[in-house]
Amino acid sequence: MTSIVDLEDAVAGLPAEARAAADRLFAISTTTGRLDAPAEMHAWITKLFGSLDAVREQRIVRVTNRVTLEGALFNDLRAMRPMEVKGGDEVRATIEGSRNDPFCHPETGTPADTFGRITGEHGITASNVAKYDGYHGVLVFADHDPLAPMDAGMIADHLATTARWGRAALAADPAARYLFVMWNCLWRAGGSIVHGHMQMTATRGLHYPKVELLRRQALAYAAANGRDYFDDLWLVHDALGLGVTVDGGRVVASLAPIKEREVLILGRPGADARTLAPAIARTVAAYRAAGVVSYNMAVYLPPLSSDGEDWRRFPPIARLVDRGDPANKTSDIGAMELYAASVIATDPFRLASQLRDLSATDNTPREV
Ligand SMILES: [Zn+2]
Repeated sequence: MTSIVDLEDAVAGLPAEARAAADRLFAISTTTGRLDAPAEMHAWITKLFGSLDAVREQRIVRVTNRVTLEGALFNDLRAMRPMEVKGGDEVRATIEGSRNDPFCHPETGTPADTFGRITGEHGITASNVAKYDGYHGVLVFADHDPLAPMDAGMIADHLATTARWGRAALAADPAARYLFVMWNCLWRAGGSIVHGHMQMTATRGLHYPKVELLRRQALAYAAANGRDYFDDLWLVHDALGLGVTVDGGRVVASLAPIKEREVLILGRPGADARTLAPAIARTVAAYRAAGVVSYNMAVYLPPLSSDGEDWRRFPPIARLVDRGDPANKTSDIGAMELYAASVIATDPFRLASQLRDLSATDNTPREV
């Protein structure tokens, strides 16, 4: 398997078309960090990192997306650095201990939106008590346990319910045409309620800045290169072995992730968000198989009614990211991620392999 530290060589070996797209999309460089450790530290370093040499010279790969100016610094060694890891028992106990919360009886435990509740097969909507925006709803899952297995059908049902909620908000306010769907799984990912849930907001005037920025960047890329940005993004990742197709959804183990194990799922322009469901289910299953229990998901969608701007090539997109061990007191996000570039310990090539290694039919680990 290719390693992220060999990315420059991997790109150099691509076929011409993918190589050209990689050069348009990414600036990639490799550097070596060096240090001298005192003799007193040698035993400790060897115990934690395997050898002195592993620490003495460290290869760091820097990737910058030239179009979006998202950037990541990869160093495999950071995956081995001292961290407080307690495992899943505490998470399991917290989930069980929070049963019979207000979300377990949403019709009496949560407020409704002024346009009422939207009921799906596996969940029901509520109005968020302290709102992010004028329209801010919660999709309360029928199952309390946020880590209960979730197949593509359940995710499609949830996305259909959020879409119906968006249309209800739009009917109440024709300017609230920009729907945003998110999923904060467990407290480490910003979820204040343990009970499984997604959230929806509908905003006015302009899409949320990060979505609108991506639309503008993709349009500028198409104008400058005569190529579709999202198709080129897929082309490069797929050619490198970082792309997996799941029922037509293009799943990308991102070369410029916002944080650990970020996956981008690219739908087809004009398609419904539900078309992303099988790929989302695969990603969540791959996360669980890798021990990930806390993650964020965001769904980017064109406006629900025309705003006069060009959204024709903007596909439905889901982004998912691993937020680390909920028992860890150290935040995964620091000043680097907020203000400079993301520092990444997990290898996207390993992530792509984990996404591929799940059975296509039921997302269970494939027998080898
Ligand atoms: Zn509950």
